[in-house]
Formats: sequence, C-alpha cells, structure tokens
Amino acid sequence: MRIDKLLANMGYGTRKEVKTLLKGGNVRINGNPEKSPKTHVNPDEDLVTVMGEEVEYREYIYLMMNKPGDLISATEDAHDPTVIDILQPEDQVFDPFPVGRLDKDTEGLLLITNDGQLNHRLTSPKKDVGKTYFAVIYGKVTEEDVRKFSEGVTLDDGYQTKPGKLVILESDDVSEIELTITEGKFHQVKRMFEAVDKKVTYLKRVMIGELALDEDLDLGEYRELTDEEIDYLM
Ligand code: URA
Repeated sequence: MRIDKLLANMGYGTRKEVKTLLKGGNVRINGNPEKSPKTHVNPDEDLVTVMGEEVEYREYIYLMMNKPGDLISATEDAHDPTVIDILQPEDQVFDPFPVGRLDKDTEGLLLITNDGQLNHRLTSPKKDVGKTYFAVIYGKVTEEDVRKFSEGVTLDDGYQTKPGKLVILESDDVSEIELTITEGKFHQVKRMFEAVDKKVTYLKRVMIGELALDEDLDLGEYRELTDEEIDYLM
C-alpha cells in the first residue's frame, strides 16, 4: 500500500496534507526518512513512524448504525443521501459499505464495514445468520401466521421462503411482532406479511446473529463495534 494512503487512512490528514507531512521529513519507514508519497509499505512488516510515533495500521473498520428511515443503504445514490454520506470523513477514508440492504423506510441495525469476507458471511443465505426485525403490522397476527412462517411462505413471485421465527408481541387490529429470518430477499419481511394478507407499517432491524442494536444510538448515530461484538460476527 502507498504510504500516503496508509497515513490518510490512519487519520493523518487528507492525501494532500499527508504529502506535506512527508515532504517536511516527518515520516520514517524502518527508521529511514521517507519523502515520497508514492513509496509502498507493507503494513504487516514495515515500521512507520510520524514524528517518532509509531503508526498503528488497521485495515478494517466495523461500524454499527441506527439507520434512520430517510437514507439509502448503498455507497452512492443519484437522488437521495446514503448511509455512507453521513459518516465522518475519517471513517469514509476506509471505503466502507453497508452489509446487506435495508429499505429506505426501514430503521435500525445496519453494519458498515470494508471487510468483504464479513459481508459475505453475514449476507450469504448459506450461512444461515438470523436477522431479527421488530415490526408493526396492520392486521391481527395470529398463531396460524406463526405456524405458516415456521414452514416458510410463498411470496408474490412464487419464491418459497425458508422458515422464519415469528413471535407475537401484541395481537390486535394493529399488531406488533418480532420476526427472525436467515435470508434477505427484496422487501422480504413486507412480502412475507403480504403473503398472509397483512401489511407492515413500520420496520426496524434489531439483531444480526448475536449482535443487538445499541439502543443508546439515536436514529442516524453510529459507533464502532467493540472487539467482543466483532467476535460475535466472526
Ligand atoms: N425486509 C423488508 O421488507 N425490508 C427491509 O428493509 C428488510 C427486510
């Protein structure tokens, strides 16, 4: 990796600022002064210092966001702001992306990382990682729905879903439920309820695998995962 990219990623400034830092003779690689931003370093082997202080390189970033219902879960969008747009510049330098997609109007737990392997592990249906949603449903959700979901339901395009675990929190003209599914088909939760003639009016993801949304995060806020939380996902 180029030394200017490494330093920019580690928060030493923009590429331009880092160039000035290098030109000023403030950076050493394995003890030797380095002035060229183009020089390549191996973060695992080379010792990089800035003004005598060791640069601890990290490759990956793992963020948990409480996604609000007005952002697109993508890296860019032609019309609307994305979840990446609201990240701090020092987090954006890692080129992070959202893990899986939530609909624009869905709130709740969204992971944002630049770790492609983790992304695959969490989104591949073969890995069976549960995603749990809280939803408000227009219509009375019944034990019959619980049974149907446990067997899998047929969506409008004929797709037969895998079993989902439906828990009724409140059953009335307007119901509240939690549903855990291991797939992520387009609008899956909404379409599963349509398959039993009900409508999702509010949807929030609360868990991915063992990882729960930090309820201290307001909508639009995010924080880094702790080491323990990263371990839950690995
Ligand atoms: N299912 C949906 O219908 N929408 C989401 O955003 C996530 C799951």
